[in-house]
Amino acid sequence: MLKKIPLHWQILAGMIVGLLIGFVADRLGAQQLVKHWIKPFGTIFMNLLKMIAVPLIIASLIKGVSDMKDLSRLSRMGGRTLALYLVTTAAAVAIGLGIVNLVKPGAGVAPATREKLLSAYASEAAGRVTTAKSEQEKGPLQPLVDIVPDNFFAATTDNRRMLQVIFFALLIGVGLILVAEEKAKPIKDIFDGLNEVILKLVDLVMLTAPVGVMALLAALITESPSADLLVSLVWYALCVVVGLAILIFGLYPALTRLLTGKSYGFFLKGILPAQLVAFSTSSSAATLPVTMERAQESLGVHEEVAGFVLPIGATMNMDGTALYQGVAAVFIAQALGLTLDLGDQLSILLTATLASIGAAAVPSAGLIVLVIVLGAAGIPQEGLALIFAIDRPLDMCRTVANVTSDACVAMVVAQSLGLLGPPQERRLDDFYPRP
Ligand code: ASP
Repeated sequence: MLKKIPLHWQILAGMIVGLLIGFVADRLGAQQLVKHWIKPFGTIFMNLLKMIAVPLIIASLIKGVSDMKDLSRLSRMGGRTLALYLVTTAAAVAIGLGIVNLVKPGAGVAPATREKLLSAYASEAAGRVTTAKSEQEKGPLQPLVDIVPDNFFAATTDNRRMLQVIFFALLIGVGLILVAEEKAKPIKDIFDGLNEVILKLVDLVMLTAPVGVMALLAALITESPSADLLVSLVWYALCVVVGLAILIFGLYPALTRLLTGKSYGFFLKGILPAQLVAFSTSSSAATLPVTMERAQESLGVHEEVAGFVLPIGATMNMDGTALYQGVAAVFIAQALGLTLDLGDQLSILLTATLASIGAAAVPSAGLIVLVIVLGAAGIPQEGLALIFAIDRPLDMCRTVANVTSDACVAMVVAQSLGLLGPPQERRLDDFYPRP
């Protein structure tokens, strides 16, 4: 019977049930029950997705790159992908800055609320500042150094080092293009097969998605901070959410419509399950397997493009995070009574664009790199404490934008290379295993 209900409805139902369980448990003081008996199912779901992510990146990138046959094709696809990623990210920050300057949510924060927030989250904020500072102290070229692993196998054991895995996989793909066909073929066949197997595993894992997201959301509700602190941040949160909504429901479907001719409904319906998983897990890396599957099978992106564009996008293209950083930086400045001139705002635009590239595709990463944005604009980094209370729900929303942007760019790049086809009929609307 369940088989008949499309997956996205099942996930949505799981989310609603999770929220209800969370609220009821919170009311009844049953937080421990949720922690010990429900949350573990969410953790298992997250782990299953993360478990697949690294092998998926390796198999899909090696296959994707080596299929290109020549390096000029690779550089063409790479150039377009990076250009689109940069343009959409900068546009996202600009939208965020426009909204936050218009609404001025920070100007209305009462001094007493400000003090309360600053003291409630001072120690957490200090922890994030220390993490970010130790990164900053490494020097301006460190991000470049960080891309190249000294040990590939060590890199595969840490989801924060995805960029290193991508780098290695790209190089292997290039190597396969350069060696003789008969030497390359057996290796390519292995990764081709592995790719298929992993996509099949995504099918299986997604069968557990409704229960997984239910557990994640129930745990989230019982663990979130007190409501009165959240309420004081409503205007700030609204600015972020409205900005993200403009991206998700405006910019990306409009871009795909304009540049690929596909309708709003086609794009949004195709990517919906990935958006729901992104919302529940707050991690683009964990969502990557689902994004890959939806892009190929519902949006019609050829596997050569999806295998290249999406793993890189999950790690580097974070429009939602960048928008949030722009809004958060200006909000903190407003709340602390600082004025930012045009130069400061431009430096926020630049650093938020770059910092979002450096943010790992895991929960709360955007909050850590926000420290760098604040530093660049001369805003006291302790101000981070002001926005802590509401970060998690916003993280969930910005991850949705991050994933949607990746899918949009994948479609546009595929179209530009003549590699956007009809959705693959074999599994349209659900993730049940192929017969
Ligand atoms: N959670 C986000 C992601 O994985 C990153 C962030 O903004 O914290 O895409």
